[in-house]
Amino acid sequence: MLTFPQQLINGYRAFQTQRLPTEQSRYRELSERGQSPEVMVIGCCDSRVSPEVIFDARPGELFVVRNIANLVPVYAPDGGTHGVSAALEYAVQVLRVKHIVVLGHAQCGGVRAFIDKIEPLSPGDFIGKWMSMFVKPGEVVEQRPQESIQDFATRIEKASVFRSLENLMTFPCIQVLVDRGKLQLHGAYFGVAEGSLFVLDKATREFRGVRESQPSP
Ligand SMILES: [Zn+2]
Repeated sequence: MLTFPQQLINGYRAFQTQRLPTEQSRYRELSERGQSPEVMVIGCCDSRVSPEVIFDARPGELFVVRNIANLVPVYAPDGGTHGVSAALEYAVQVLRVKHIVVLGHAQCGGVRAFIDKIEPLSPGDFIGKWMSMFVKPGEVVEQRPQESIQDFATRIEKASVFRSLENLMTFPCIQVLVDRGKLQLHGAYFGVAEGSLFVLDKATREFRGVRESQPSP
């Protein structure tokens, strides 16, 4: 007999008794007037990197898409089924979010599979095909001399954020709104072990620790 995971039943009961009472009116209001989040987050599926947890978000605050290695594909109106593009279309055209945050993270399994060039896990090789979008035609992504495998992985994890930000701008609806100043694109990186957050400084193309650059008041 199939059983619904007890862990989830217990979790829901905790939600029902602790969080729901404080959020009930908010849920009702969101139910009546619909959602209007100002922020979209594109993150990785990794169970340790939940945007709602990291950003301490309340119901209705974040519109989230998660996939392997937080990747955004290049705009491709080719008649194919594009999940991320559909979510972007809804976020930008209907919800009119003001910010899109691409959230990369440390120890990303998708990035690791890519740099280790693992054998396909199934005949479909979905991960391999998905990660291949990270590489531009003709581009070679390789470990540098003197670079440790750890540093190589970190570099590619951050590069996946850059690549997604670059690909976001290939969507005409996003480019127009960014040019008009109505939409801002951001990069961020989560250090799993320390629970640390780094935000991309676009001017220097470096990720800066939020704790250091914005000390708590
Ligand atoms: Zn990941």
